[in-house]
Amino acid sequence: MRLARLGIAREADLALHLPLRYEDYTSRVPLAQLRAGMSVCAEGVVTANEMRYRPRRQWVCMIESDDENSVAALVLRFFTFYPNQQKAMVIGARVRVFGEVREGHFGLEMVHPKFIVLGAKAGHEAPLSNRLTPIYPTTAGLSQEVLTKQIARVLQWGAILHDDLPEAVRQQEGLWNWPQALRFLHAPPPGLSAEEQATLSAHTHPAWQRIKFDELLAQQLSLKRHKAARASRHAEALTPRGNLTDALLQRLPFTLTEAQQRAWKEIGDDLARAVPMHRLLQGDVGSGKTVIAALAALRTVENGRQVALMAPTEILAEQHYHKLSAWLTGLPLRLLWLSGSLTTTQHKKALAGLSGGEPALVIGTHALFQKEVTMPNLALAIVDEQHRFGVAQRLALRDKGTGAEDVHQLMMSATPIPRTLAMSFYADLDVSVIDTLPPGRTPVATRLVNQARRAEIVAHVGKRCVDGAQAYWVCPLIEESEKLSLQAAQTLCEELVAAFDGNSETESGAPLPKLNVGLLHGRMKPANKTATMEAFVRGDIHVLVATTVIEVGVDVPNASIMVIEHAERFGLAQLHQLRGRVGRGSRQSQCILLFETPLGAIAKERLKVIFENSDGFEIARQDLRIRGPGELLGARQSGVPLLRFADPERDEALLERASAVADCLLKMEEGEAAAVKLIERWLGDKAEFFKA
Ligand code: ADP
Ligand code: MG
Repeated sequence: MRLARLGIAREADLALHLPLRYEDYTSRVPLAQLRAGMSVCAEGVVTANEMRYRPRRQWVCMIESDDENSVAALVLRFFTFYPNQQKAMVIGARVRVFGEVREGHFGLEMVHPKFIVLGAKAGHEAPLSNRLTPIYPTTAGLSQEVLTKQIARVLQWGAILHDDLPEAVRQQEGLWNWPQALRFLHAPPPGLSAEEQATLSAHTHPAWQRIKFDELLAQQLSLKRHKAARASRHAEALTPRGNLTDALLQRLPFTLTEAQQRAWKEIGDDLARAVPMHRLLQGDVGSGKTVIAALAALRTVENGRQVALMAPTEILAEQHYHKLSAWLTGLPLRLLWLSGSLTTTQHKKALAGLSGGEPALVIGTHALFQKEVTMPNLALAIVDEQHRFGVAQRLALRDKGTGAEDVHQLMMSATPIPRTLAMSFYADLDVSVIDTLPPGRTPVATRLVNQARRAEIVAHVGKRCVDGAQAYWVCPLIEESEKLSLQAAQTLCEELVAAFDGNSETESGAPLPKLNVGLLHGRMKPANKTATMEAFVRGDIHVLVATTVIEVGVDVPNASIMVIEHAERFGLAQLHQLRGRVGRGSRQSQCILLFETPLGAIAKERLKVIFENSDGFEIARQDLRIRGPGELLGARQSGVPLLRFADPERDEALLERASAVADCLLKMEEGEAAAVKLIERWLGDKAEFFKA
């Protein structure tokens, strides 16, 4: 149970439960030299002991140095203890204690130190440990000692110490052998140099290198094997038929950028092959992914098959629906809409429209993968803003195809993934990148403004809107409470309605214009959301107050001002997404980030990054640096097991080698067996996730 909490599912996992750090108990520190924060071994004579009951039951002892020249004491505090431990701590006993020193009420203390009782006379004592003591990540109720013993026991097993890497590969890569690396990390040998100790704690020691290499290799092998397995499956070859795709290209009010053409070619080529596509289309906010999705969809319908386009929010799905309806009117194509907000009759009708298997493009939200939906002729599943969905949801959509063949999958994301991360976590995906924005975009000017100067911003936005601009005014989601978020949005809306009622003026007495202010939030009825959004698109609403529901994908070219309240509370990806909602028309756009002081260090750093950068990739790289890969990937959702020891960014060189070795292993005769073992050791049952 307790082990499970540490992510240890099998006994074998214990061997890979590696120390967080080491403590040095190889020498004693005199009590007089102790300082808070040190992890040390010290000795002294017990001079006082007592049970205390406040604030809770505890056994408190005091030890003092027996050196007459230096007077110093240390308090030992135990909240749980055995009677024989208590008996051992009699007054006059000489004890050696190990632990972290901290500042207590009565001077320095150790809470729950390990201790041993020494002989009565100084000099007559047990030898000190001659090696570093590993400290493992642990959990309540599981002591370091017990964990250490269990790990030591497992390390006796031959299978644990078996080197899964073929010897030739190991030597060629100049890596330590497996048992050597494991033993070294769990029980570093005596007499390490200061330099070795430093590399040990920096995780750059050859023993760590071997561990991290294997971890990366197992991940690469798992992903690459799934990719290879997919290549042997079958999907409908959707070949160019031309009539619908060409018609769309002709109708578009723009021509595709070179980057879009490249992406479309890659996707079109994939679709034309009788092997399931598994491709990620990546492109910064506003780079024009929707039209590529539309082309892929039309290619599918041209071939007499069904295609589903799923988006994470009602607003976004609806926007796609409207946009595609406008592009596609008059073309011989059935366009269906499926969302949770349909009436029962509408819902039934939509389902019936799909279950017969006639060619169609269906656009919708999570409603698309519900049980009652059947698309017997589904050949392509497109998932927009894929990081918003869980693996299971994406698979549920894919599995709507009931034929013998696989369904092609196209995933789209505006979260740019730095190269190292993509290499590491997306090794099973093909990736197309739209790396330029459509022409005619004007860069967004970003301003950082203290919340204290908000009134000026109100006046400023008023002035711009009189000139024909439109603004989003975003207030943050309050994590703890949706209700509070909603209140904040309503309050802000009321405030702006009052300011722009036509009878108000600024603090300096200048009149504020009369403007229409609208409100958009997640709790609204879908129909109201749609109506509000439509009014904004028509220009009837000048200022749209919104919670972060507009974060993904919303596209209103005339909106050129984005005001974000309490920008310090937003993550970098969110800020970048929000800012990407403007700068889509010809008008000079602005993003005004209001912040409240004092700013925390991380918030300050984030605002600096967003202020200085407009390139999504650079922002993502910085985000990775600030937050680590987990959140950037939405890892919990994506189901891709995160790396525990290796860090794709820091260990880039190792990652490159692991990727190359994985390719090589998969070609070698004994490679398959090695791959299976490595994957089993590192991923165990988690390898299933990669099936996606
Ligand atoms: P995203 O990649 O963020 O999903 P969209 O597909 O919503 O971006 O496109 C953003 C805007 O750019 C839309 O209004 C779209 O019609 C427009 N657009 C897309 N491609 C081009 C292009 N090649 N030239 C001009 N405008 C384009
Ligand atoms: Mg989009």
